This record gives sequence, structure tokens and C-alpha cells, in this order.
Amino acid sequence: MQPSLANATRTVVKIGSALLADPETGALNEAWLDGLARDVASLRGRGKDVLIVSSGAIAIGRRHLGLPQDALKLEEMQAAAACGQIRLAHAYQSALARHGIGVAQILLTHEDTEARRRYLNARSTINTLLSLGTVPVINENDTVATNEIRFGDNDRLAARVAVMMSADLLVLLSDVDGLYENDPRHDADARWIPTVERITPQIEAMAGDIGTPSAAGGMVTKIAAAKHAMAAGCHMVIAEGAVERPLTALEGGARSTWFVSTATPRAARKSWIASALEPRGTLVIDDGAWRALLKGRSLLPAGVKAVEGTFERGDAVAIRVEHGREAGRGLVAYSAADARRIVGHKSREIERILGYRGRAEMIHRDDLVLDEEQGP
Ligand code: GLU
Repeated sequence: MQPSLANATRTVVKIGSALLADPETGALNEAWLDGLARDVASLRGRGKDVLIVSSGAIAIGRRHLGLPQDALKLEEMQAAAACGQIRLAHAYQSALARHGIGVAQILLTHEDTEARRRYLNARSTINTLLSLGTVPVINENDTVATNEIRFGDNDRLAARVAVMMSADLLVLLSDVDGLYENDPRHDADARWIPTVERITPQIEAMAGDIGTPSAAGGMVTKIAAAKHAMAAGCHMVIAEGAVERPLTALEGGARSTWFVSTATPRAARKSWIASALEPRGTLVIDDGAWRALLKGRSLLPAGVKAVEGTFERGDAVAIRVEHGREAGRGLVAYSAADARRIVGHKSREIERILGYRGRAEMIHRDDLVLDEEQGP
């Protein structure tokens, strides 16, 4: 299917600081945000999930704290983010409330989107928020992120979020309307690239050198985001953000560059679970549980007979049917130690046994792939 906003069911929209906050004064561009909110309402009205990854916290906060425009120390940036994020979230809340849409704030670090422990939490919380009809507004948790656990740029954060949430489209609203063979700011005749199907070394060369000052948030991070998204079955588009209704403009055919993925998010996620991760252990299940899995259900602790190996929550494990062969793989919601304590028990007994309210499923069906399901 042709990638487009109309065809996507779950879209992540990434919004750069320059669109939201005046680079000189840090003042919020409320008129622009209002147009964006209309666009988001139109997508929501068509039954589509929308997630916003928004920058702007530092740009807005630095003005309120009276910090200088030029290079800030890490702790000053973090202070600016803390001050700006609350204003940013409030601005989204008011703009979307005018359309009867609730927002929910999520602040993530690099670690939260890694494929373990916290990844499962972030994914199921955001899924719950979407199913409740809200628009998650996501940013990096700049205030606590140290250099080692920072993304440092929201293009890559947005791609991680898109992949984590199995989105089928990532829209990067930018100050350029796509990818060009040469930098269009310096070469008026630079040739525009309408579609990219594979990130070749030539495409990477067009993005420029990672060492240039404009690299952060420039094309280099956008191409890195495209690589990540495309491999996970998510299309990406770079489009001009500085127009009144940027998503309407995109739907109306405004110039942009589409990065087209040949996979689907579901197939890519299944293949990632099935082959990219080394299983750390095995869950041996009974026939009843196996029949439930074949009907598309989740694996509950009650259906597990034995736990083999040492693993942590979020690790990949193999699934073996009692007296049989390996039948699938999944991301497990409990550590091996906790899993051993709850096997054979009803989900409602988990809290009493473990002393905390864990997930009802040992492996949620979204995190599970059966051998039968593999292949294209
Ligand atoms: N997280 C930063 C902020 O909200 C922005 C990072 C970026 O724009 O890439 O200010």
C-alpha cells in the first residue's frame, strides 16, 4: 500500500523546537500549535492513533530562566528543560483540549526504549493511553538523562518511539521540505529526492557529515531515524513544518521525502523477536496453553509447567510444549526467579505471591511469535 497519512493507522509526529518556540525569545508559537492541533483532531476523528514527540523544552525554559542563547552547560540545559517541559506540556494540553482530546506526558531516556524491562512498561503504558483516546506527548527526559543515557536528539527518539509502538508512519516536521542531493540552503539548484527505498551510502553522503555543527537535528539524525524506522516496517516522511496546517499540507501533496519500508511493523516485530534476540531461557507449557496460543491468546502463568534458565524481565525466552519441541519465542514479563514462583497459578494470585501487582500475562500475545507465524 502507498505510504500516506490517510493509509497509516498509527502515526508518530515529531515536532522540532524551531516550529514551536521562537529561536530568539523562546516564546511559544500558539497560532502554529493551534493549526497542528486541528490536524491531529482530524486524524483522531478518522480513528487513527497519533503520538507526538515534541522538542522545545530547552528553548522555552531557557527564556524563562533568563539563561543566555549560546552554549549552555549540561546542567543549565537540564534546568531549562525542567522549566520548559511543564510549559510545553501545558501548551499541548490547552491546544488539544479545544478539540476535546486529552493529552498524556511521557518522558523517556535512551534506556527506556532498549528492548528489555522498561521497554515493556513504556510500550504497554502508551498502548493503554492510546486505547483510552489520548494523544501521548513525548520528549526526552532531559532533566535526569546523563550523557551516557541521552538520545540528544528527538529525531532518533521519535524513531525509537515509532518502532517501540509498532507505528506504521513517522512524520518528521522540519525546517526543510525533504532530502536534497546537496544542501538546498547553499545550492538553489539542489535536486530534491521524492522517495527513498533503501539507505545507500549515496543517501548517507547527501545527509552530510556528522561532524558539522548543524548535524544535531540536521539530516544526519533524520537518516539515522529513517534507517531505524524502515527496518521495523515503519515508513518515514520528512516534511516542511513551518506552515499553518502542516499535516493537512502533507496530505494535500506538499513537497516532502518519503522513506518507504517494505515490511510491516507486525512482521518486522515478529521477526525481531523470533531471530534477533538470543533466548535466555525456556518456558515449558502445557497442551491447554498451547491451544490458547494457537487461538491468538497470551501465555498466562497458569499454563506454564516449568521455567528453565536465568533471565530478566523483558528478555527473550523460548517456548516449548511439554514433551515436544520448541514452538515459539517471546519477551517475558517476569524474571526467571519470579516466573518460577507464579507458574501454575491464576493471574489474580500474582500479587499475593510476589507482593507486587505484575502483568496478568507471562508473555503478552504482542510479544510472542509462534513458529507457525514465521515467514512472510
Ligand atoms: N529534548 C530537547 C528539548 O525538548 C530537544 C532535542 C531535539 O530537538 O532534538 O528541548
